[in-house]
Amino acid sequence: MARLRGKTALVTGGGSGIGEGVAAAFAREGACVVVTDLDGAAAARVAAAIVAEGGRAVGLAQDVTREQDWDVAIERALGEFGGLSVLVNNAGIAPSADPIETLSLADWRRTMAVNLDGVFLGTRAGIRAMKAGAAGSIINISSVYGLVGTTRAPDYVAAKGAVRLLSKAAALECAEAGYRIRVNSLHPGFIDTPMLERGLAQMSRKGIVPDPATGKAAITGMHPIGRLGTPTDVAAAAIYLASEESAFMTGAELVVDGGYTAR
Ligand code: NAP
Repeated sequence: MARLRGKTALVTGGGSGIGEGVAAAFAREGACVVVTDLDGAAAARVAAAIVAEGGRAVGLAQDVTREQDWDVAIERALGEFGGLSVLVNNAGIAPSADPIETLSLADWRRTMAVNLDGVFLGTRAGIRAMKAGAAGSIINISSVYGLVGTTRAPDYVAAKGAVRLLSKAAALECAEAGYRIRVNSLHPGFIDTPMLERGLAQMSRKGIVPDPATGKAAITGMHPIGRLGTPTDVAAAAIYLASEESAFMTGAELVVDGGYTAR
């Protein structure tokens, strides 16, 4: 259980859901973890739980849409643990559940700011911090909705699709520059997290599903494997991308979706 020994990882949106699962799993594999989140108290809680289990972690507040927050987070990683070798751009928000026809420009921009600008700023900061290092891995959390479309989420789908190609562009630039940094995108199906619960509640309020439980059952049925994913499912793939086991993978997309996109 030490596939990430010697590595320092920064996980954004690490105070909840997938990010929390990834941060805890990385620590169990021997990584030092900088957990960041818009909610600094949530990040601190996750870091404290890791430390209580014998791991090494710090938690801090970070808004991924703010350039200066990236400077602070990277400096903290370098200062606390002496380097940065893994970055997981995980922070994200759910779509507003409106069709294109009625989606407001403000809502479109809000989704783009967190789900795309945040990943751009993170990828840029990660490359700058890792380029002189021995081996770096940037993992950008996209979605099945970065691979296929859906209704009532044009903002989300557009941002997640852009994350997929931004990751490939960054992978090519790093390889061309001779940096030992790999950049890959990770595409989960529906994962049982607070984001999904909030999304179901919102869909119920807007009359898209009769109630959250019925909506959840319908979404579960879209996964041929017969269940929703868990943060642990995503964390297992993230550990692989963070470790040297995936040394020949860059510019790739790793799909963890219970067969959702296989149809
Ligand atoms: P989650 O439980 O809502 O966790 C996301 C975390 O990101 C929250 O702690 C949230 O903080 C934080 N965050 C939001 N805006 C931020 C910002 N500007 N700066 C820093 N942190 C911010 O969601 P999740 O389900 O774990 O999703 C994590 C990632 O996986 C997202 O990128 C999501 O799009 C992607 N994903 C999720 C699913 C799914 O079905 N759950 C499927 C595919 C992909 P607050 O709670 O304080 O806002």
